[in-house]
Amino acid sequence: MKAFRRIDLWVILGFLLLAAGLWFFRAAPGEGALYAEIYYKDERIHRIALDAELSDQVIELGGAAIRVSGDGSVFFLHSDCPDQICVHGGKISADGQMLACVPNRLLVKIVSSDSGEGEKLRASFTGYFDTVSSVISVGMEEEAFSQFAKSLKRDLSELHGLYSIYDDSANEAGAKRVNLKAINDGGEGVYRVDPRLARMLYEAKRGYDLSEGKVNIALGKMLALWHTARLERKIPSSEALKTAAAGGDISKLIVHTEPGENGLFTVELQADLRLDAGAIAKGYALDMLCESYRDRYPGVSLLISLGGNIRAVGEKSDWRIGIQHPDGDGVFASFILPAGKAVATSGDYERYFELDGKRYHHIIDPQTYMPADYGIRSVTVVSDSGALSDLLTTALFMMPPEEGIKLAQRLGAEVFYILDSLQTVTSDGFPSRE
Ligand code: AMP
Ligand code: MG
Repeated sequence: MKAFRRIDLWVILGFLLLAAGLWFFRAAPGEGALYAEIYYKDERIHRIALDAELSDQVIELGGAAIRVSGDGSVFFLHSDCPDQICVHGGKISADGQMLACVPNRLLVKIVSSDSGEGEKLRASFTGYFDTVSSVISVGMEEEAFSQFAKSLKRDLSELHGLYSIYDDSANEAGAKRVNLKAINDGGEGVYRVDPRLARMLYEAKRGYDLSEGKVNIALGKMLALWHTARLERKIPSSEALKTAAAGGDISKLIVHTEPGENGLFTVELQADLRLDAGAIAKGYALDMLCESYRDRYPGVSLLISLGGNIRAVGEKSDWRIGIQHPDGDGVFASFILPAGKAVATSGDYERYFELDGKRYHHIIDPQTYMPADYGIRSVTVVSDSGALSDLLTTALFMMPPEEGIKLAQRLGAEVFYILDSLQTVTSDGFPSRE
């Protein structure tokens, strides 16, 4: 096992430009030459030196145009994606900064020639969970890391396939694989599913109870109206929201977590529910990945991120995590994530649209059918599990901070809020900030 080397890496939670993603950058910028690396479908397609001789160029790739400018900055000129998050992301020019167009699977990174070993032992993927997934490793040889990154990619692809409500690709013809989309399309009925899907749904039901009914994955029909609303920038009618929410009775979702025939589990919809696991699936998937890698790679430390959900594996106990400023791309505060812990952030800046000066974000209060409005800009939760951190960041958005802190602490979690005023509220045991 190698000695742990301090790597000046920060990880930004809920980074705006990546749509609930993250941003690694070096706290102390390197001295080396800078390059813009452009990845398409996780393959590096271009590496362009950002030196004084550079003349402007525009790279057309995967439905977008990326400008690598003579002044050393890089930005998306345009893209045919629905959300335009990449274009709104503006310019990047410093070592470690990233921009992504998740729908088109494009990733742009600025890297330095002296980034060293730490650079090589990182990988990012754009094809899964509608966000950017990343891993950093300490204590692994390069060749082993490259094999590991391949298996992570395979695992992410399988989990994404199972949990997606938009993607059909897991239901290959004749393969009899059932994912969340297939259950939603099928409606009332009994489904034989992969244990990883059944167990996640079982946890989701538990999450409903733990969050006192705030996080309800059976509200899929109502959440779908808001999904369309964000794309069309139009508020759904209150009548439509009410009707859609009325169909969200989670007691009509029955999950059997004992294996049946072929090792498959049974999920039953006793009504025409539509499920949306967006509030919890990434955290649950993160735990499954981390627990399996902890056993398979003893002596290695990993930091794995699925969008705004991050968990540390192994003994390294000084991962520095940055909490994004709700109004920009900078760091609001940073803290050290203890070994083995999981952290997540939910923010009103991740997915939203604005109309007449008002922001409509993506966490929908089941009591009002409208975006939750408790004066909160972001909630960051540290706990022992990715699933709990993910559940709680969403749940705590839907209650006053005093209540949220009590709920979190009852469940062994610590919280950091940024409020509308940009003032902060924290639970006593949250790691200290810089
Ligand atoms: P997160 O980013 O983890 O806070 O999760 C937000 C996502 O969860 C949204 O994009 C929706 O898909 C889903 N969601 C929003 N409100 C709720 C709710 N009240 N119950 C369950 N899921 C929700
Ligand atoms: Mg969540």
